[in-house]
Amino acid sequence: MPTNYKAPLAGQHAAITGGGRGIGASIAETLARLGASVSLIGRNAAVLEATKKRIVMEHGVQVATASADVTDEAAVHRALDSLRNALGAPTILVNNAGMAVSAPFLKSDAAYWRKVLDVDLMGAVYCTQAVLPAMLEANWGRIINIASIAGLAGSAYVTAYCAAKHGMIGLTRALALETARTGVTVNAVCPGYTDTEMTANSIATITQKTGRSREEVMATLLARNPQGRLIQPAEVADTVAWLCGAGAGSVTGQSIVIAGGELMP
Ligand code: NAP
Repeated sequence: MPTNYKAPLAGQHAAITGGGRGIGASIAETLARLGASVSLIGRNAAVLEATKKRIVMEHGVQVATASADVTDEAAVHRALDSLRNALGAPTILVNNAGMAVSAPFLKSDAAYWRKVLDVDLMGAVYCTQAVLPAMLEANWGRIINIASIAGLAGSAYVTAYCAAKHGMIGLTRALALETARTGVTVNAVCPGYTDTEMTANSIATITQKTGRSREEVMATLLARNPQGRLIQPAEVADTVAWLCGAGAGSVTGQSIVIAGGELMP
């Protein structure tokens, strides 16, 4: 089939968790610009609707939304059923929904650990289990897990987040092998500090806990990145878009670092 260079993802349906804002919204906009229909999943219906409106206006593709907390397996299945009814079975799943909270290890109790593991790891498991059967049946699919450099290296005061993101990398690698003889690929994308609300909240927390100024905290974060800057959500989105393309069919089980050289695994 000849490649449609203007809309290489035309005919694809990408479901993106946490697609209403931050990195997820940027991924949704990029995939829509390339012609995919997109489904946005998140807890805040108003935010999802606002992003939907913007994408429809700018790109003229079909967009559907479904409110769900990714930690609620039944709600995830209901959401994906409704999106399937609206736009057909997702051919691309981007597990992007996530939370980052910090606490010293000895102050992180079991409830804290369960919450972080539920959002940052189990959410991806539930969503993947909901869409994978149709992808296997179609013999084509793309599963892209938005992990983090915290999935490949340790980082103090975020033990639960690091453990969940390392788990996401393990999930990616093992599932990539399990699906290797099909047309389904499974990859992880691992950003460094990215310019979103999540990073703004981390800076606010560190500022509050240490009494350092916002500028000092920002300078410390930026110093970790050899390029001396935050990653832009669109840079993460472009990598996701490349993984969705036909040309990335042999790329599976990989963890692609987008961090200005901060980590060289
Ligand atoms: P963000 O601005 O805080 O956005 C988080 C997104 O996740 C929101 O759309 C939120 O939607 C959704 N979400 C959170 N908990 C959810 C839940 N229980 N159920 C459903 N949706 C939920 O964060 P971001 O920076 O865009 O991060 C996106 C992903 O990139 C995360 O997995 C994060 O770990 C990863 N990441 C971020 C950075 C960074 O520096 N920002 C670096 C590396 C990796 P609702 O609130 O509407 O539910």
